[in-house]
Amino acid sequence: MTDTKLEERWPREDREFFSAGLLDWYLAHKRDLPWRRTRDPYRIWVSEIMLQQTRVDTVIPYFLRFVERFPDVTALADAPEEDVLKCWEGLGYYSRARNLQQAAKDVKERYGGVIPNDVEAVAGLKGVGPYTAGAILSIAFGRPEPAVDGNVMRVLSRFFLIDDDVAKPKTRILMEGLARELIPEGEAREFNQALMEHGAMTCTPKSPRCLVCPVMERCAGRLAGRENELPVKSKAKPPRPETRLAALVEGRGAHAGKVLIRQRPAQGLLARMWELPHWPAPEESGASERPRTGTGTRRSGLPAAPPEEAVRDRLRRSLAGAGIAARPGKHWMAAEHTFSHLQWTLQVYLCREEELPLPMAAEARVPYGAAGAAAPGEAPAGEAPEPVLPFEAGPGSSGDSGPHRWIGREEMAGYAFPNVFLKLLNAYFDQREQGETRGQEPE
Ligand code: SF4
Repeated sequence: MTDTKLEERWPREDREFFSAGLLDWYLAHKRDLPWRRTRDPYRIWVSEIMLQQTRVDTVIPYFLRFVERFPDVTALADAPEEDVLKCWEGLGYYSRARNLQQAAKDVKERYGGVIPNDVEAVAGLKGVGPYTAGAILSIAFGRPEPAVDGNVMRVLSRFFLIDDDVAKPKTRILMEGLARELIPEGEAREFNQALMEHGAMTCTPKSPRCLVCPVMERCAGRLAGRENELPVKSKAKPPRPETRLAALVEGRGAHAGKVLIRQRPAQGLLARMWELPHWPAPEESGASERPRTGTGTRRSGLPAAPPEEAVRDRLRRSLAGAGIAARPGKHWMAAEHTFSHLQWTLQVYLCREEELPLPMAAEARVPYGAAGAAAPGEAPAGEAPEPVLPFEAGPGSSGDSGPHRWIGREEMAGYAFPNVFLKLLNAYFDQREQGETRGQEPE
């Protein structure tokens, strides 16, 4: 945007008032956060990646553990991916951790483990978008680069009364141009953090605290009485709901006291993380009509009646197809897990490992990972076997299931789980310890 156009739309006086007001307020009131005690670009980078989609309070203990375990770029680059995911467990959006490690490997290889003070080099790292690049470059190196995320767009929309849809790329570009102009000379480090802090503490998404706002006098959104309408944002597509049947397989004999987990494929959703085996629920089963749980997990409020025969049958076939000799029992719990594009409702069934010899035949147990193979003896002679549910119907999946393991609670620490499975496993082992959950005899 040319200087004349900028001046027409946002007069210099307002811009200077805004920048000076926020900077003074920040220097007097900023929170003492672990990543604000350093100018180490590695630590600032880690904190910015963790803070994406996650609250500051949640991030602090993760950040401290992470930088203690991986104190620099080289330590992160050289660590086993399992360790990195385990350290990230519970934070969600695990592709952030994988991208961070991949980018650390690039920094080690290309720049000798030193994050370069260079816009193109930083912006080219995996998982580093324009916001994160601006944050690293301004906070670590003091460069006058804008760092514009949703919080900053909200603040700018309100103060400068900008009606443009913040979901559109051209609005982001407009905001980046404005934010760049707002940076006072030599103050990029503090000013960018002042903008972020203001969005987090004062100009909050709901009910902005205008009465204590350091720039309220000239806030065009507030003066127009529109602070609660801004920013304008078109609605994103809601996540697609998908119901899945999950098997909590309780071991017998050598596996007594343990449950079966599997590793997800190396590519796609939640890559390489561990979980309970689960498959899409057939629509006709009625499983998708079972009650949902809101967030997290809870015991199902279903009566003690057995689950639909079709569901159990389908689950048994899918287990067999994955080489797992187990018999589904009662419905135990429902849980939800939401991704940006997808919402799983997991209907969890307690299953019991079968002792050999049983109809499933020994060879069905051996592979424990050969998903997609029809179980021997499943179809009557002359009939095609019923289709076995695929391991993963989501995009980007390789379609092959990884290894399976029998684990007790004490072994959970050795595996990285998405939150929903962590909660389910903890709930299961809690109940076992309290004597509430027993191996379910098939009904
Ligand atoms: S006056 Fe209110 S709406 Fe305007 S910048 Fe301050 S907190 Fe945000």
